[in-house]
Amino acid sequence: MIIKNGKVFIDGSYHEVDVRITNGVIREIGCDLKYDEVYDAKGQYVFAGFMDTHIHGACRTNCGTSVESMKEICASLPQYGVTSFIPTPLDDGDPSHCASLVRNIRAAKGAPGADILGIFIYSAYKNRSISYYAPPINPTKERTLALCDNDLSDIRSIIIAPELPGGQEHISWLVQNGVIPAIGFSEGYADDIREAVRRGARLTDHFPNGFPALDHHISQGTTQCLLEDELYMQLNPDCIHVAPEFIQMMFRVKGEDKFVAVSDSSELMGAPEGEYQMGNKTVYVRDGAVRDINGKLVTGAHTFDENMRTFKAKGFSMETIGKIFSENASKAFQISDRGKIEVGRRADLVIMSEDLYVQRTMINGEWFYTK
Ligand SMILES: [Zn+2]
Repeated sequence: MIIKNGKVFIDGSYHEVDVRITNGVIREIGCDLKYDEVYDAKGQYVFAGFMDTHIHGACRTNCGTSVESMKEICASLPQYGVTSFIPTPLDDGDPSHCASLVRNIRAAKGAPGADILGIFIYSAYKNRSISYYAPPINPTKERTLALCDNDLSDIRSIIIAPELPGGQEHISWLVQNGVIPAIGFSEGYADDIREAVRRGARLTDHFPNGFPALDHHISQGTTQCLLEDELYMQLNPDCIHVAPEFIQMMFRVKGEDKFVAVSDSSELMGAPEGEYQMGNKTVYVRDGAVRDINGKLVTGAHTFDENMRTFKAKGFSMETIGKIFSENASKAFQISDRGKIEVGRRADLVIMSEDLYVQRTMINGEWFYTK
């Protein structure tokens, strides 16, 4: 198969090149390639398949609720261009509950559709003093192992506020075990963030959501996260969780190469406006997000591709969009077998129209979704 005439996003810019795919792998990139089977992508964008690295749910179910519903999520995501994802189960304070979600996610691996790339544990190792959040639970090895059903092998990342008692030691232990510590829900000071990075933290949760607002009077962790060159940052790009001007400021301070778009979507992904039950909470899909009765943001409800259109409508360039929605995720998560259009990588591709609607999604060299 050859994809011809498209605008192919490689290394931060668009190229008029052909892409040859054989046996699920990108084999050749160049001009005037010849092959029997051709897809004409004239006027369309060709991106490396999107990796949603922070997603709590979709299809009216949370990640891990059951094996069957997890498979349904895998099958549904390619219509939004997502070819791999990292399910993000919530630690509600009961490790055995989180472990059961983890088991169901594992049992769904290999299901047709978007590939489950590992698990991002949304732990209760959060430290926010405002009453909206549950009180913090201090990290321990025993508790983390219990959350992960005693297996860290496919755990990509875990949220942690480094300033919690035992937090820095826990960060070192996670790094030793191949897990990327994601700084999140932290009220730490600049020194706490410096120390966490020194110990190997390389990611923040969706920034700055979950962090205290910038305060110019203190040596604050929020500010320090922006200054640490080694930290990648997840970003909820719906332009509601973070205002577009604030996003622009972060891009200027840190460089857009360090931001990874995530859907942060909930079970209500794509749901119409209205009242819903989320666990034991009544929530509302209103003005483009899931909110509580007071209008406070609870979580996301947008699909991956919808956020790209929002980004474009807010004036971000197509180069910026390509980086943060497509190429940056594999760098942040140190993944080299996919996530970029490059010879030798898995042929996970998304073809999008000029106005950023998904036309086709290829997974492992096969068209999985056609509009
Ligand atoms: Zn989230």
